[in-house]
Amino acid sequence: MRFAIRDPFVLEEDMPHKVWRLSCSCSGDVGMGVGPTSRPCSGPACSRCGEPTVFSYWARDSIERMDLYQRVHGLKPLGPHLRLADAVFRGLRESCDACRSTGFVGTEHWAECPHCEGTGGAWKADEEHLVAAYCLLLHRYAEAAAPGALSAVGIGLGGLPPGIEPR
Ligand SMILES: [Zn+2]
Ligand SMILES: [Zn+2]
Repeated sequence: MRFAIRDPFVLEEDMPHKVWRLSCSCSGDVGMGVGPTSRPCSGPACSRCGEPTVFSYWARDSIERMDLYQRVHGLKPLGPHLRLADAVFRGLRESCDACRSTGFVGTEHWAECPHCEGTGGAWKADEEHLVAAYCLLLHRYAEAAAPGALSAVGIGLGGLPPGIEPR
């Protein structure tokens, strides 16, 4: 079981949080206790054996994931277009090995992964393929473009009048 511990009194804006994993061999319905243990660099203790959890990776919360989606795709992170967007962009990105697709490096302190600019991956499709994907999507959902956004291939998505395909 994995979950993130956050300090409820600290408002972390645009900050990833740590995800911990159990370091013991307990399995089944095992939770993590509340609060950090006294050992440095360790998370909350296993609720069964008390062994401290260890840092696993940095993660974004849901708002941050939506920001990232918009940044990567140039599309609004919510709306009826998401299903088609999933379909047309599937397989066009590859995950980043350097950060295990998390977009972050570091343990005690985080930094955006320099290999993928914090996005957790990179476009691997050629430009022609990407343009076709955006044309298809925006033809169907012209309002899907995030305001002022550029697509992965530099098409000004936000500037397109409804129903007009990019050239
Ligand atoms: Zn345990
Ligand atoms: Zn990376």
